[in-house]
Amino acid sequence: MKYRFQYIESVPSLPNAAMVRGSFVHRVLELLLARAAQDRTLDAVRKDFEIAEGEFRLRDDFRLLLLDATSEADFWESCRECVRAYYRIEQPATANIVELEKWVSTPLGEFELGGFIDRLERDDDGLVVSDYKTGAPKPLRFSTDYLRQLTYYALMCETQLNETPHSVRIYYLGGGKDEHTRDERVVTQAVTDATLADVRDTARRVFGEIEAGKSSGEFATNVTNLCNWCDFKQWCPAHGGDIGQALAAGTERVALRRREAGLPEKT
Ligand code: SF4
Repeated sequence: MKYRFQYIESVPSLPNAAMVRGSFVHRVLELLLARAAQDRTLDAVRKDFEIAEGEFRLRDDFRLLLLDATSEADFWESCRECVRAYYRIEQPATANIVELEKWVSTPLGEFELGGFIDRLERDDDGLVVSDYKTGAPKPLRFSTDYLRQLTYYALMCETQLNETPHSVRIYYLGGGKDEHTRDERVVTQAVTDATLADVRDTARRVFGEIEAGKSSGEFATNVTNLCNWCDFKQWCPAHGGDIGQALAAGTERVALRRREAGLPEKT
């Protein structure tokens, strides 16, 4: 159902601070790790943070947060804390980066799967697909969805680079400063024939369900506590909403926020 709201009905959604923080921290680490290993110094990361901050202050998603002075100070501090957490789990000069923000894709029968890998690194055993999460660390058993997302990228690497990564890895950068060990923050899962087959099967099944939903108009809902953070809850049929109102009301909601943020109307 969320897919329907977002990609079929094209209902615009509003950014939230967690999403923007995630993009911001990715950008800082992208700038840092794009430097030669010996140049990834503390001065460099401070500079990269400033560059990214300058970029984000001009971006619509940041401006749409409508942060007041206190919330904005808290926002930048939470971003700094994520970068500090990164330093507690890795010395950037030691990261053996192969690619950053690399586009990969693979055909899967009737459709093509594609996306940007945030970070592709190489260790003694070969390639590793990795990503940062700016939320608090989750144990392996609760990281399954994230790891599956990364395994899709491993599948695409297999096709496009002719090399199958041996592992996928999440670097968790959120949560309290002294609350998590390095092992809790770095979660790695091996890529195996079984995990690759699982994502191939899942992609085909989901693609089939979307195509069936487009024909029948029926899309599955998944009511959990996470609905409280869903941008479309008020129009979701599972919560008594009217999907027919979503596009107009969602467009008006974003237009109003853009006016409040002093941004031009979107054409
Ligand atoms: S409110 Fe819940 S069930 Fe409805 S679209 Fe959002 S996440 Fe899915």
